[in-house]
Formats: sequence, C-alpha cells, structure tokens
Amino acid sequence: MNILIFGPNGSGKGTQGSLAKQKYDLDHIESGAIFRKHIGGGTELGLKAKEYIDKGELVPDDITIPMVLDVLQSSSSNGWLLDGFPRSIVQAEKLWEALQKDGVKLDFVIEILLPREVAKARIMGRRLCANDPNHPNNVGIPAIAPDGDKCRVCGGELSARADDQDEDAINKRHDIYYDDKTGTIAAAYFYKDLADKAGFKYIELDGEGTIDEIKETLLSQLA
Ligand code: AMP
Repeated sequence: MNILIFGPNGSGKGTQGSLAKQKYDLDHIESGAIFRKHIGGGTELGLKAKEYIDKGELVPDDITIPMVLDVLQSSSSNGWLLDGFPRSIVQAEKLWEALQKDGVKLDFVIEILLPREVAKARIMGRRLCANDPNHPNNVGIPAIAPDGDKCRVCGGELSARADDQDEDAINKRHDIYYDDKTGTIAAAYFYKDLADKAGFKYIELDGEGTIDEIKETLLSQLA
C-alpha cells in the first residue's frame, strides 16, 4: 500500500497521515523530518539544507529528489506514506517517473483542503512533543490544547519549531504550497488528473472539520 498525502502546513496532515500509516502499518516517509534528522546529526546534507529551511524556502531539487527517492526504495514491504514530497510540479513528475520505472503502484493520494489564513493561524499555535512529533498539540485549537505546557498525549516536553513562529517563513511556505501553477497544489493536481487513468483513488478532505470528523471521513474513504 503506497499513499501520498498533500495538505498545507497547519492542515493536520501529520495527524491524518499517521492514521493512514497505522491502518496499513506503513513507513511514514516525511521529507521535512528526514531533513531535520540530517540537521540534528550535523551531516553535510543537513548543513546545506538548513540554510533553505531556516528561510522557509524549498531545499533544491538536486538534494531533495535523490534523498527522498532513496528512502522510498529502501522502505519496508508493506509500503509507505509519503508526506511533504512532492512539493512542486517538477518533484511530482520526477516521482511519477521513478514509480513507473520501478513498477511501484500508487494506491491513494490524499489532499487536505484548508484556506490559507486558517492554516497560518494553526501553524503559529502548533507545539512539538519531544517524545513523538505526531502527538497533536496546538494552543490555538481547543480540542488539542496542550496540558499546561506539556504534551496532552504523553506529558512530554513541548517546544515550538523556530520556523513555525516566523511569519515571513510561513508566508513563503504557503506561497509555495498554494501556487497552483508550479507549486504544491500544482503537484497535487498533477496526481488528481492521473488518478482515474492510473488506477489510484484521489481523496479530498475538508481540513476545517475537527480531527475526529476528518479521521472518520478518511477511514471510510481508505476502505
Ligand atoms: P516540513 O516539515 O514539511 O514543513 O518541512 C520543513 C522544511 O523542509 C520545508 O520548509 C523545506 O525547506 C524543506 N522541505 C521539506 N520537504 C521538501 C521538499 N519536498 N522539497 C524541498 N524542500 C523540502
């Protein structure tokens, strides 16, 4: 089972993605998390990527595309949930070429739809749990407000990602996401157009619902 998930930063993509991941026991391949791991480990790739990430810009394709395709190829036999990639029409095309070349079937593509201003407010309220980045905590969404200053799921330490608090960086990231000519929405539409012909299901979710509502819709669609 192989799944692509699209959604602007702040749409709950991580939360919904982990649901799909658990249902099918998939590898969660998240390009942003791979970069953060490299940065944490002080690798050469991490150092190069950091200058772009700190500015809210995309890491160049010659670094990103081989890195992600490499991780995809070495993933487990159950399949993967790919999150954060592709983020541009070029990445969408390169991924599709690689899947065709390797004879890898895509089963679902999920798109979470959310207005830009709502997404921005949610990002600024987001907190990251030290034990599990998929534990949902957001000071701006009452249903998933942290427990004091600790993670509402496990009581772990919380922090805000530096790039979550930088409005210019958020605006830049959303400029990329909502660009329907060459950006991430364009990448999503590339797969939307392919869905019927290529035999995978394209699932659109209304990101303004509660986490549970979106989960329910997603689970019924994934059946
Ligand atoms: P994320 O955790 O998905 O918000 O990613 C954090 C940052 O990593 C992004 O703002 C980009 O700088 C970089 N990044 C993640 N995925 C990609 C990608 N597919 N292409 C280029 N840069 C990426």
